[in-house]
Amino acid sequence: MSKRFETKAIRHQLERSQYLEHSTPLYLTSSFVFEDDEDMRVAFAEEKERNIYSRFSNPNTQEFIEKVCAMEEAEDGVAFATGMGAIFSTFAALLNSGDHVISARSVFGSTHALFTKFLPKWQIETSYFDVSKPQEIEKLIRPNSKLLYAETPTNPGVDLLDLADLGQLAKKHGLILIIDNCFATPYIQKPIPYGADLVIHSATKLMDGQGRVLGGITVGRKDLIREIYVFSRNTGASLSPFNAWVLSKSLETLAVRVDRHCENALTLATALEKHPKINWVKYPFLPSHPQYAIAQKQMRQGGNIISFEIKGGIAAGKSFLNAIEMCSLSANLGDTRTIVTHPASTTHSKLSVQDRLDVGITDGLIRLSVGLEHVEDIQTDLLNALAKA
Ligand SMILES: *Cc1c(COP(=O)(O)O)cnc(C)c1O
Repeated sequence: MSKRFETKAIRHQLERSQYLEHSTPLYLTSSFVFEDDEDMRVAFAEEKERNIYSRFSNPNTQEFIEKVCAMEEAEDGVAFATGMGAIFSTFAALLNSGDHVISARSVFGSTHALFTKFLPKWQIETSYFDVSKPQEIEKLIRPNSKLLYAETPTNPGVDLLDLADLGQLAKKHGLILIIDNCFATPYIQKPIPYGADLVIHSATKLMDGQGRVLGGITVGRKDLIREIYVFSRNTGASLSPFNAWVLSKSLETLAVRVDRHCENALTLATALEKHPKINWVKYPFLPSHPQYAIAQKQMRQGGNIISFEIKGGIAAGKSFLNAIEMCSLSANLGDTRTIVTHPASTTHSKLSVQDRLDVGITDGLIRLSVGLEHVEDIQTDLLNALAKA
C-alpha cells in the first residue's frame, strides 16, 4: 500500500521485537554481538547490512534516517549529532584540497564560519552570491567548482531561492547541489525532486520541534551518501540512539505541528504588517513578499519564521526585546515556544553595519520563530512590546 507523508511519518518503523511493542523501543546500546567468527567477518567486510557499533549504525538511528529519506524522497542518508556535524561532515567527505564552493551569502552563521575560517585551511575557497541576484551564480563558476550550497528560506532575512532554477544550474554545470532545508522541513518543501543532490537538516529545529535534543541529517544521492557515511563512521559525529529515538517520535507529529506553526505565523505576519511601528514584514506566504511567486510554486506553506523591521533602529529593537514578557529570548528556533531575536544587537552585533546589510540584517530587524502557544497570546505579547518600543 502506498502511503502518504503523514502516514509514513507514523507507520514507518522498525520490525517489532519478540515483545510485540507498539511503539519503537529505545536501543540504548553502544555495540552489538556476533554469533561466531564468520558472523563477525561478514559484518566487517560489509557483506551484510547489520549493526556492529553505534558509531556506525544503530536501530533507532536507522529508523530516523529511513523516515527522513521517505519524507524527502531521498535514496539514503546519514544522521549526525548536530546540524553542524551534518554540514561539516558532508563538506569534509566530498571536498578535496583545491576545490571551490559557491554559496549563498546568507547562510547559517556557523556554516559561514566553515567557509571563511575552516575550509580555507585545506585550500578550499568559497565564492558568495547575493540571494536577490541568483542570476550572478553562473559568473562565479570556475573549473574547480564542486558544490553549490544554499538555504531557502534564508536566516534571518526569510528570502527565497528558486529551487528549480538552482537544480537546473547545478545540472548544467555538473555541480553538486546541497540545500539546507531546515527552515522549511520536508513537509513544506522537498528540494530533491527539483534537482538537489543532497538535503541537510538541523533536526534540532522543527524536526524535534520541542527544544529538547540536538541532531542533524544529510540525505540524498546514494553514491554521495556512501562517501559521507564512510567519513562519518570513522570521524564520529554520529547521532546518539537516544536522540534518534526522540527525533523519530517527533517526526510522527511533524505535519500537525508545522500546520499550526504556519497558521499562527500567517496570522501574526498579517497583523504585524498593518502596525504603524513596523516598516515591513517578510513572510513567504504574504503576497507582499518579494518572492511570493516562488513561495507559491515550491512551498506548501510559509513556515514559522517571520522577519520584520521595527522603526527606530537598534534602540527600538533593544527596547522591543526588553519589553517582551512571554516569548523567549533564545538562540534556538522551531520550538513550541515562540522565540524573538534582534540580530543587530545580539547574534550579529560583532559584524560591521555593512557586513550585516550584506546578509540582509538591518538595525531594526526582528526575527520571530513562531511557536504553538495560542496565537492571540503571542500577538498580545508582541503588540504590548511594540507599544513600549
Ligand atoms: C540551527 C541551524 C543549523 C545548525 O544546526 P545545529 O543542530 O545547531 O548544529 C544549520 N542550518 C540552519 C539553517 C540552522 O537553523
